[in-house]
Amino acid sequence: MRPLSVLLLALVACGDRLPAREFDGAAALGYIRTQLAFGPRIPGAPGHAKMAAWLDSLLRVRADTVIAQRWTHVSARGDSLPLVNFIARFNPRATTRLLFLAHWDTRPRADGRFSRDSTLPVPGANDGASGVAILLGMADQLRKAPPAIGVDLLFVDGEDYGDFDRNQDVLLGSRYFATHLPPGPLPRFAVLLDMVGDKDLRIQQEGGSVTGAPDVVEKVWSLAARLGHAAVFPPEEGITLVDDHVPLQEAGIRAIDLIDFTFGGDDNHWHHTPDDTIDKVSAASLQAVGDVVMGVVRTTR
Ligand SMILES: [Zn+2]
Repeated sequence: MRPLSVLLLALVACGDRLPAREFDGAAALGYIRTQLAFGPRIPGAPGHAKMAAWLDSLLRVRADTVIAQRWTHVSARGDSLPLVNFIARFNPRATTRLLFLAHWDTRPRADGRFSRDSTLPVPGANDGASGVAILLGMADQLRKAPPAIGVDLLFVDGEDYGDFDRNQDVLLGSRYFATHLPPGPLPRFAVLLDMVGDKDLRIQQEGGSVTGAPDVVEKVWSLAARLGHAAVFPPEEGITLVDDHVPLQEAGIRAIDLIDFTFGGDDNHWHHTPDDTIDKVSAASLQAVGDVVMGVVRTTR
């Protein structure tokens, strides 16, 4: 029985050309833990500087090329913020390229609807660290087995600093990137990872992604289903969000947003609160997302 079932599984996998599972969800959870240990990664704060140095050193031993985009942003209140985006490039000469991005900063104030104390910063286990953890887990695999196409991993700063309602001091890194694109061809498409660690993960199809790049949404969700992650990636349309994919779309890049905006229940209870902590995320959720994004890399030609 056992050899036969193994053989059948192998045949099915070969026939469908499903990529082998390679992502390490437990290691990705470790990357969240390390980020939380730096303290809040608020632009200008000590944790932000420590995290930038850590990211820089990790990426330089994994990627073929690392570009650091550094600039100063003066906020609406007049604060000068030292910001840095990191672009880790794999197979930099390839003309067919994919871009994956996440924000690495965390929000200075826990001013969400359900916050118990808006004077505290957001720890950002999910909102910030989870997307970074996926990108770093990807970097580990891309170092072990270089991709056939070009892959760029973009860590954007200053996504969550300011006020989304006023469109003030938010999406700073993705806006900077969109107006300072690195040399070479535009990526075929881009995938944003934001709040992808929720232990009860449910990533619906974000509205602006469906409108802006419907074929990319279709590719990602059908691959997720084939990999056995349909419960994490239900094929249903979710809300439309202002997030880092928007400036990229405006620059002509077909970008989608993988985001679970039901963090702590349908009311998004833990979003922008002091409760965005390590116990709210899981290795299993990171594994599902990591499997899918690595599958996207390995099945794109
Ligand atoms: Zn946020």
